[in-house]
Amino acid sequence: MSKIVTVYERFYAQNPVPNNPPREKIYNNAFKSLVGVTLSAQTKDERTAEACANLFAHAETPEEILALDIDKLKQLIRPAGMYNNKAKNLRLMSEQLLQRHGGAVPNDREQLMQLAGVGRKSTDIMMRFVFNEPAIAVDTHVHRISNRLGIAKTKAEHKTAEILEQDTPDKYRWGAHEWLIDHGKYICRARSPKCDQCMFTDLCDYYKEKHNEVDEQSTSLSA
Ligand code: SF4
Repeated sequence: MSKIVTVYERFYAQNPVPNNPPREKIYNNAFKSLVGVTLSAQTKDERTAEACANLFAHAETPEEILALDIDKLKQLIRPAGMYNNKAKNLRLMSEQLLQRHGGAVPNDREQLMQLAGVGRKSTDIMMRFVFNEPAIAVDTHVHRISNRLGIAKTKAEHKTAEILEQDTPDKYRWGAHEWLIDHGKYICRARSPKCDQCMFTDLCDYYKEKHNEVDEQSTSLSA
C-alpha cells in the first residue's frame, strides 16, 4: 500500500468524513466568498475578516466595488495588507466577472483561475467550500505536512496540490483538506511539531531524519 493511502486510512479511522457538503462555508454568496478568499492571501484570518467587514458594509457586488473610489477601496481593505495590489485586483476581477460572466462567479476551475488575483489555492478553496467539489486546497499547513510525511516532496504549494490531486483516492477526497489542515494546526505545527502525539512517526520522513540526527549525535558523543 502506498504511503499516502496509509496516511489517509489512519485519518479516516480516527475521523471519517461523510461524503457530503463541507463543514464550513465562507460567506453567504459566491462573490463575497471569492473576495474573502482573495483578500486572505498572506494575512491572518482575523485581518481578512476585518477587511471584509469594512468592504461589505459599502460594497457587496462587482458593480458596487467598481463604483467605489480606488482610495476608498484601499482604505477599506487595508487591514488585509498588500492593499494597493489587492484593490487593483479586486477592481479588475470585478470587471472580468461582469464582462465574461454577467457578474456571476463561474463554477469552473479554469475560468476561476483566469480571474485577477485568483490562483490555484483560491480556486481550490472556492471549489471546495462554495461549489462543493472535493478539491484539496493546499495552504502552508498542507504543504508542510505533505513534505514532512513525504507524500509530496516539493518546494511550491501548487506542485504539492498537483501531487495530492493526482494521488488522493476518491474515498478520501472529502476528508483530505480538513484532515491535513487540522493536523498542521494542532499536531504538526511549523515550529514545534508534537511528534509525541502523532500517529505517523513510523511513516514520517521528517521524524526519521530528526531521530537519525539525534542518534548520530549521541553515538558520536559516546564514542
Ligand atoms: S511525526 Fe512529527 S513531523 Fe511527522 S507528521 Fe507527525 S508531528 Fe509532523
